[in-house]
This record gives sequence, structure tokens and C-alpha cells, in this order.
Amino acid sequence: MPSGVLEVLEPATEAVLQEIPRADAADVDRAVARAIAAFPGWRAVTPSDRAAHLRALSEVVRDHQEELAQLEARNAGKAIGDARGEMGMVSQVFGYYAGSPERLTGDTIPVAGGQAWTVREPLGVVGLIVPWNFPLTIASWKMGPALAAGNTIVLKPAELTPLTALRFAELALEAGLPDGVLNVVVGPGSVCGARLVEHPGVAKVAFTGSTEVGRSIAAGAAQTIKRVTLELGGKSPNIVFADADLAAAAAAAPGAVFGNAGQDCCARSRILVQREAMDEFMAGLERAVTSIRVGDPLSEETEMGPLISAGQREHVRSFVDEGAPVAFRGSAPDGPGFWFAPTVLCPVDTGARAAREEIFGPVAVVIPFDTEEEAIRLGNDTIYGLSGSIWSGDGARALRVARALDVGVLSINSNTSVRVSTPFGGFKQSGYGRELGPHALDAYTEVKSIFYATDAAG
Ligand code: NDP
Repeated sequence: MPSGVLEVLEPATEAVLQEIPRADAADVDRAVARAIAAFPGWRAVTPSDRAAHLRALSEVVRDHQEELAQLEARNAGKAIGDARGEMGMVSQVFGYYAGSPERLTGDTIPVAGGQAWTVREPLGVVGLIVPWNFPLTIASWKMGPALAAGNTIVLKPAELTPLTALRFAELALEAGLPDGVLNVVVGPGSVCGARLVEHPGVAKVAFTGSTEVGRSIAAGAAQTIKRVTLELGGKSPNIVFADADLAAAAAAAPGAVFGNAGQDCCARSRILVQREAMDEFMAGLERAVTSIRVGDPLSEETEMGPLISAGQREHVRSFVDEGAPVAFRGSAPDGPGFWFAPTVLCPVDTGARAAREEIFGPVAVVIPFDTEEEAIRLGNDTIYGLSGSIWSGDGARALRVARALDVGVLSINSNTSVRVSTPFGGFKQSGYGRELGPHALDAYTEVKSIFYATDAAG
């Protein structure tokens, strides 16, 4: 049974960063009650005033960007440069959704006997369950559209990384967000997350995390026909054709899989390379991997920090056991901290665990292919469908392959997946629903159809 005090660790040192009270199911019930009480007032805020609240959230994050970045870098073990970029994105997300309250328009539909039109209503209280890899960033992807649409929130961050969510909640109050609109509970997922899923007062759960927990959330939510969006795991392909700019593809590949120490649902951890380009690509990849600077997250030089926990390191290590086909590795510090050197495996059988399971650490596999058809077949040969990249100098081929891959977010001659203004989410067992961009509002509103009779017989 978890104790009432949570020790939050710093993954780079294994030292306790902060001790905080740990919530239980009764705390979740109290948070939901506060969110229920705040809902009528928040949905009644005029669209322009709600927009102003979102702009204030954007500004308060921007004004505290360095403080939040330092906290996130220490608590999640991420490179400070990355953490600054992420806090910049959090600010942008609230700025982007500040444009939404005044643009939540509906349709007018021609019908007999009167007028019919649609409006979009908020859902009520939404439960947001977020992971430890991009703690405040992923929370903001959910909070921005949820608040813009007029919902109130109970946010459950991962126990490993609750600090920026707690600080953000304080800043939100300072920025004028009404009391009870945003509530944060920090406690174990199996207790607090599960209570949000079963609570009849929660209208929707938006979850990012493992496919296994996503399955249990979908099953649990069925009891109350709760709305659910799931952003789950991935095993994304990075497909490199021989006609690509191979130097650029090889130089960019490590960032696409070792960024955030590989703890990224979009990690391109299956690098598929056309056979005739293998030697040149592998030489470039080795140069790039061995030059990654792994170390203290707070150092300005650092490109990759430690893994989040001892448990995650054990999980990652299980893919690089004795006899694993290590082609080359980068370096990592010794001593305290959950360090793991960037590692490339090749040759790897397409049926091997490392080629099929989400590793969520700095381990990539390289697999050769011969034809465009084989690249598509291998790219789709996974239960997941979140993200991916295609590198080719032939634009028509790149577009053919892009249409044929069963994934939600693709990039051509680039490895970027996430933009504030474009939809993000997965096919297949990577989940359902979309975050970011205009589509995210669909996940936080219900469409209501209204008919007004104008004819006597209407
Ligand atoms: P989880 O899916 O367990 O955790 C994600 C969030 O869900 C956390 O807030 C967690 O709470 C909560 N949670 C856990 N169990 C439940 C439950 N029964 N009901 C409701 N909420 C719950 O991820 P892990 O931390 O265990 O990571 C394991 C693997 O998941 C990784 O190796 C990776 O493969 C994948 N993953 C994918 C992510 C993605 O971005 N898609 C993010 C994180 C992990 P708490 O942790 O506080 O107990």
C-alpha cells in the first residue's frame, strides 16, 4: 500500500528532490466535487473572457519559462535546452487555444418546417491522466482545448513527475483562473487514475501512457459510457530510401529516437534503410550516435539525460542483453543516475522483441529493405500506428508511401511529429482521438442539434 508521502526523485542523481502529500481516492472525489461546482460558472464565462483567461495562462507560462524548465529538467531528467523548448510550447498551446472560444461555430442545416442548427457544448468535468516523459507539455495539450471549450479539469500527473503540474496550478490561480476550474491530484495511477475513470461525475478521460493501461481505461470507462481519448505507445518507422540525402537522414536519425532518452511515443526506433544505402547510412549514423552528449540535464551542453527511473532502465536493458547485436553505442556517465548509453542494434530479425516492442529508451534497430513495397509492408508490420518518417529524393514516391502507411503523424525528409496547430494521434493500438490543432476541440465538446419550428405543422 503506498504511503501518504511521495518522494519525488531526480533521475540524474537518484536524490529526493521534494516530498509531497500523496492523494488517495477520497482526494480525487473531493477534486471532482470542486470541478463539478466550478463548471456552471466556467461554461457561462463569455467566449471573449474565456479567451482572455487562456491568453493569461500563455503569458504566465512564458513569464515563468525558465523556472518551469529548470523544474521539469530536474524532475524528468531532460536536457535543459529541451525543457525550455517544451515550456515555450506549453505557452504556445494556451495562446493557440485562446483563439478557440470565439470560433466554436456550428452548422445550419436545411430542414422542413423550421430552422435546424448545431452548437458545441462542453462535456463537464474532464479527467486528464498524463505520463512522465513530457509532463507539463502533454498536460497542456489536453488542458488548452478542454478549458477553451468550457470544461473544468481534474489533472493527474504521473507520480514520478508531478512538480510542474503543481506549480502550473499555482500560476494559473495567480493568472486569474477561477477557483475549482483546474484541480491537480498527485497519487498512484492504480488508485487516483482508476477513480477518475470510474467516477460517475467525470464526463471524459483523456489519457497518454502505455497501451496496457490505455486498454484498462477504455474498459473501465465503458461502465459509465465515458468519452475517452487515448494516446498510447508507438514503434515508429524511419524509412530511408537510397535516393534520399543520406547524410541528412543519418545525421537526423539519432535525434528522432534518442531525444528525451528515447522516452518518446513518437520515437523512430525502427530505422528501415534501403539495402544499397546501408553502408553509407550506417557510417553516418555511427558518427552521429557516438557524438551525442549524454550528461547532467542542467548543463547547457547536454543533449540527452538519464532515463526516468531504475525500473525503466531495467526495462530498456532487457532489450540489450548479452548476445544482443550491438552495432555501436554512444557513451553515458557512471555513478548515480539512471543512465543508459544510446545504442544501435543491427542486424535484427523483424520478429525480435527489439523490433516489435516499444522500448521507450535510447535503443534503435536498423533493418534493411529492398523495394518500396517491402518498405511499406515493414513499416506497417506493427500493432502500433503513431508516427513515422520517409526520407527520399523522389517526391512522388514519398507521397505514395505516406498514403500507404497506417500512422497518424508523418514527416517527409524530416523527423518532426508535433506542431501546436496540426492534429496529433494514432492509428491502430496507438490509440484514438486527436490532440492539438483544430481537431482537439472535437474531443472536448458534444454536438447538439436544435430545431426551431417556424411553420404551424413543424
Ligand atoms: P503508465 O501507462 O503506467 O502511466 C501513465 C499514466 O497513467 C500515469 O499518470 C500513471 O500514474 C497512470 N496510470 C497507471 N495505471 C493506471 C490505471 N490503472 N488507471 C488509470 N491511470 C493509471 O506508463 P508507465 O509509467 O508504467 O510506463 C510504462 C511504459 O508505457 C513505457 O515503457 C512506455 O512504453 C509506455 N509509455 C508511453 C507513453 C506515451 O507517451 N505514449 C508515456 C509513458 C509511458 P502513476 O505513474 O502515477 O502511477
